Amino acid sequence: MLDCRNAAFHRFVVVLLVELLALAPLRVAAQSQRPPSPPQPKEVFESLRATLERPYLELFEAAPSLEYSPAQIERMRRYLDEARQYCVREFRARLSTYQKDRQRLQADLKRRTASLEDPERRDLHCKIQNLRILESQAQMLVEHAIPVAYENKKAKLELIEKWPQELERIKQEIASGTYHQRRFGDVKDIGIRELVPGQERDIKDGQEAVRQMKMTGLLPPELDHPAIKKYVNDVAQKIARHSDLRVPLNLTLLNSKEINAFALPGGFLFIQRGLLEAVEDEAQLAGVIAHEIAHVTGRHGNKLMKRATIASIIYQAAQVAAVILTGGAATLGTYYALQYGFYGLGLVLSLDLLGVSREFELEADQLGVQYAWNAGYDPSGFIRFFDKMATREGYVNGASWFRTHPPFFARMVHTKREMMFLPEKPGLVRDTEEFRRMKEELAKVTAQAAEEEKNKPSLLTPVQGCPAPEKPEFKPGDPIEKICPLPSS
Ligand SMILES: [Zn+2]
Repeated sequence: MLDCRNAAFHRFVVVLLVELLALAPLRVAAQSQRPPSPPQPKEVFESLRATLERPYLELFEAAPSLEYSPAQIERMRRYLDEARQYCVREFRARLSTYQKDRQRLQADLKRRTASLEDPERRDLHCKIQNLRILESQAQMLVEHAIPVAYENKKAKLELIEKWPQELERIKQEIASGTYHQRRFGDVKDIGIRELVPGQERDIKDGQEAVRQMKMTGLLPPELDHPAIKKYVNDVAQKIARHSDLRVPLNLTLLNSKEINAFALPGGFLFIQRGLLEAVEDEAQLAGVIAHEIAHVTGRHGNKLMKRATIASIIYQAAQVAAVILTGGAATLGTYYALQYGFYGLGLVLSLDLLGVSREFELEADQLGVQYAWNAGYDPSGFIRFFDKMATREGYVNGASWFRTHPPFFARMVHTKREMMFLPEKPGLVRDTEEFRRMKEELAKVTAQAAEEEKNKPSLLTPVQGCPAPEKPEFKPGDPIEKICPLPSS
């Protein structure tokens, strides 16, 4: 998304233009539209809407016995599309109001600069800063939060529609034994099988990337807490030992609010504090770590990175970070930086370096589930965490998770399929006493970080002590309906 390479940027502009052209007539026609009216009959709509609120794991169980007709599902799909368009339109209109207001105030400030008394000037400064924050929020909602939230709902609708048939196919594959022939189906040979030779050749790339990131100031400070570090490292090393990893796993904890984990080629795993705060049990943490390890064992970064040197990749990331941190553009990234004063690593790091692409995400999902399971974890942890991110936190906090991704439906079904093919294993772990203890320690670290952040001067909010934005549009974790209320019937 924030990729600066010229070819990609041009592609983006072309895509954007094509989309704008495609949307233009629609938007004009829609100007005067009211919120979409929910499909009738009301009972069906309400029940289907409630069903879409349920977690993926429950829907996998429930879908075969749900009795919605194809026509009902189709009507719901159309309604969700209309609701998304309505919601985006609302916030686009607000965005444009904020922009105009700010431009008006800025012109005012410039015109009267010589005659303004200090209190009045300060008041104007605060108002302009406040409008910048609101603009940034609205833009983030329009570009990211609203589309992701509705995509998640549509994925669940698709699951209700298609999972029953998919389940039959899976059962047949299990009955006939053909599932053993699936890609990476040799799960009993994990660690012995050769996925992609040459992992060790990626170590120096990873080291170089770490060095460059430190040099350009991209890395947040390390989280210096021996007990937390030991706990996370124990979990990570356990998964590493039960994976196809052939290089040492090198863990770094970063003290930043971002909900993110990423692995660089050669086994350099980074986990940000926000992720530890967001996971609800050890199996969820294990699911995320296993997914990241899978990017390393699949050598995804190596496969994608061929064209650029690490130095140029990191240099570009640092440039984007500079724009974000100075509020040079009212972008999604600005919002993050404003809200959290954090580094937005998940937003600036090249997806090529991290090995993230549509194809490789599905591969890492599959291998990740295998590794978590092989290490003795309940492999549903990954689905549960993904669900939480996509439904609530994710569209605000976890942008990096959804930057380039295969459709949610494909990811969830693909992961669930793999879970069903894995041999029975008794005593799979979901939660541990050690996890709870880590959370207790973490709460203290979080509280301390919040205290330190309170009055930290920032490039983005240079005016200190202004009143809080008068109307915060949403809080991280709110469901989308709270942001865009729609008539319920
Ligand atoms: Zn991934």
